[in-house]
Amino acid sequence: MLSTMQYVPLTVTRILTHGMTVHSNSSVTTWTGEAEPLRRSFREIGRRAARLAGALRDELGVGNSQRVATLMWNNAEHVEAYFAIPSMGAVLHTLNLRLPAGQLVWIVNHAADRVVIVNGSLLPLLAPLLPQLPTVEHIVVSGPGDRTPLAGAQAQVHEYEELLAGQPTTYDWPELEENMAAALCYTSGTTGDPKGVVYSHRSIYLHSMQVNASESMGLTDRDTALVVVPQFHVNAWGLPHAAFMTGAGMLMPDRFLQPGPLVEMIDRERPTHAAAVPTIWQGLLAELTSDPRDISCLRTVTIGGAACPPSLMEAYDKLGVRLCQAWGMTETSPLGTMAHPPAGCTAEQEWPYRISQGRFTAGVEARLAGPTGRILPWDGTSQGELEVRGPWIAGAYYGGAVSEHSRPADKFSDDGWLKTGDVGVISPDGFLTLTDRAKDVIKSGGEWISSVELENALMGHPEVVEAAVIAVPDERWDERPLAIVVLKEGSTVDGGSLKAFLGESVARWQLPERWAFVTSVPKTSVGKFDKRALRKRYADDELDIAQA
Ligand code: AMP
Repeated sequence: MLSTMQYVPLTVTRILTHGMTVHSNSSVTTWTGEAEPLRRSFREIGRRAARLAGALRDELGVGNSQRVATLMWNNAEHVEAYFAIPSMGAVLHTLNLRLPAGQLVWIVNHAADRVVIVNGSLLPLLAPLLPQLPTVEHIVVSGPGDRTPLAGAQAQVHEYEELLAGQPTTYDWPELEENMAAALCYTSGTTGDPKGVVYSHRSIYLHSMQVNASESMGLTDRDTALVVVPQFHVNAWGLPHAAFMTGAGMLMPDRFLQPGPLVEMIDRERPTHAAAVPTIWQGLLAELTSDPRDISCLRTVTIGGAACPPSLMEAYDKLGVRLCQAWGMTETSPLGTMAHPPAGCTAEQEWPYRISQGRFTAGVEARLAGPTGRILPWDGTSQGELEVRGPWIAGAYYGGAVSEHSRPADKFSDDGWLKTGDVGVISPDGFLTLTDRAKDVIKSGGEWISSVELENALMGHPEVVEAAVIAVPDERWDERPLAIVVLKEGSTVDGGSLKAFLGESVARWQLPERWAFVTSVPKTSVGKFDKRALRKRYADDELDIAQA
């Protein structure tokens, strides 16, 4: 028997029209570095999105399913692109502005982007690549920045504001099929070529509802979210869409991502929510320690993308700010889990839940696969590779303009689950604790050592700013951990005393005997510890290693 319910496709267009009408007075505030930030209401954003869509169709000839890329900071214009491009039937492709040039070229060509909307300040990055980007016919430049790098460009160059000025504030949005492509994002590609994940209108719609659920980020129209996570990193974790659904305001840092301006933004605009990777919160903490300010307006903070050291959570607890860990991936839209403790816990009972990666959200099914592929129980101790499935989880990678989508066997199980490459345990009540990335785990004498556990313990030392642990070859044990540590300025702590400190919480056989001290840990394009770069430094003999 069929249901008696209406069929209404779940589309980004519906999120846009809802936000710009029902929440017309909510706003996107963009930091400008000047006395006043730029404030634009959702109604204005919606009207400008209509103008942008009109210009893309009428002036630039963008048609259905064609890719329109953005190379932009988090700002109001980027939000306009977020809604205009998918709602007109084209595909939004967010480009990661921190990628090496070679990878950007590869990605734009693989996606066959026809248009790139770029912030003026990023032209020095884009312009030299243009001769290698034959599919790009139009460049649309927005915001401040010298335009001269584009002199002599083959592609047609347009000014964003001029294009919008020539268009009406309404657009006859097409009725789209909900499974059509809405947005495209490439994984940061730490191994092999980057892989394209194509989000559908439906997956974005359902994911946004989950982001807003109170057991996730719980946003309402009384909130303002400081969106530090870049709009090119998995759709800013769904925040722009989620905000248009509930009317939560957005505070956008644009290019002012250093700890100083971020603290100033919080101080002046008083956001109630914020989302960013742990390295951002480490940087903010250092800033707040040297120049204390009140940031307790932040009701909750979503921290994810890499493991959150428990010591960081404790430090923010003292500032009256609660960090809530989330786990996800480009392939999972990204929200997979969030670490809100179950009801009825005392503060002490809450702690183990808070430092886990969190509880699976409705819509994300999870299982653990052991080394032989056997499915393991959720008993809190059986450790295996996490596999997931659900309506906002990728089932394949984008094949490119001329190929079929691909389902590599190391990424998808025979029965269609996504193999995450993350290793961990799941408790009987559905909380995930990750012990490592499958490729980062240290295999020592037939046992596994979790690099993340060692890092978290080390970062709990008062003199340690950052710590990354990698596996290095060892004649006797196959692999052993090498701890790479950044100390506070002026600290004289050595490997021996750090090892003694670790010994208080870590089993003896897991303690590293190799130590290297560096001034900073290299970061990936989305701000995580770049272990591949560290492994290379080790292989190239660039690390000064002491035994302890
Ligand atoms: P990306 O696709 O760049 O967002 O990277 C996804 C990967 O980041 C995941 O597969 C995890 O390895 C890692 N990750 C994300 N969130 C967390 C977290 N809360 N704790 C530990 N690792 C995380």
